[in-house]
Amino acid sequence: MIKENIERVKERIVVSCAKVDADPDKIVIVCVTKGQQLKQISEVISLGYKDIGENRVQEAVIKHKALLTIDSGLSTIKWHMIGHLQSNKVKEAIKIFDLIHSVDSVGLAEEINKQAIKISKIQDVLLEVKTSEEETKFGFAPEEVKAASAEIYKLSNVNIKGLMTIAPFADNAQEARKYFSLLRRLRDKLNPEWLISMGMSDDFEVAIEEGANIIRLGRAIFN
Ligand SMILES: *Cc1c(COP(=O)(O)O)cnc(C)c1O
Repeated sequence: MIKENIERVKERIVVSCAKVDADPDKIVIVCVTKGQQLKQISEVISLGYKDIGENRVQEAVIKHKALLTIDSGLSTIKWHMIGHLQSNKVKEAIKIFDLIHSVDSVGLAEEINKQAIKISKIQDVLLEVKTSEEETKFGFAPEEVKAASAEIYKLSNVNIKGLMTIAPFADNAQEARKYFSLLRRLRDKLNPEWLISMGMSDDFEVAIEEGANIIRLGRAIFN
């Protein structure tokens, strides 16, 4: 089931990449395992997918520990924090996450820096951008990102790797295009080296067409 799902996803990635002349092997698939059991996580890992995304620190800590116990060789997994991160969870989060996609304030970056210094870690992060007007979403407004990134650059133990966004829910994936396009143009303007994390199960093809480097897939893989 999972194997067939991923194969289908891979085929769709190849088609989308062909449209825009992108290299499908360079698209990172983060397997979003929130709500999934260890069995499912082990299965994607055994298929060679080592980027694991979780949106809650507590759940991730438990799974991280359990997977290490099952097989210490699994330490090659890259853990991605994709959900909103509260300051009081930062200390736990930075012990396990390789990339935090959801830095949405300078204050949060400062807390990450403070805790990272304590454990001598350089924490890779993405800045989450609120590309739509939805009230419920976290993230910097597009016009805030430049100033915020300048502040965050000054932090010794936080390393900005790029930008992340979540498109609003829509019946038609094409509606996400304008938000993805906005994120890409912002990246091109601020730092062409930055990666962009955008696209989920319903809209990852559009995201790839708009230049995503990292896509985050839950249902497309596990349902
Ligand atoms: C759950 C989640 C995903 C994956 O969503 P699917 O629609 O299941 O692919 C991606 N990104 C974030 C931030 C999420 O919370």
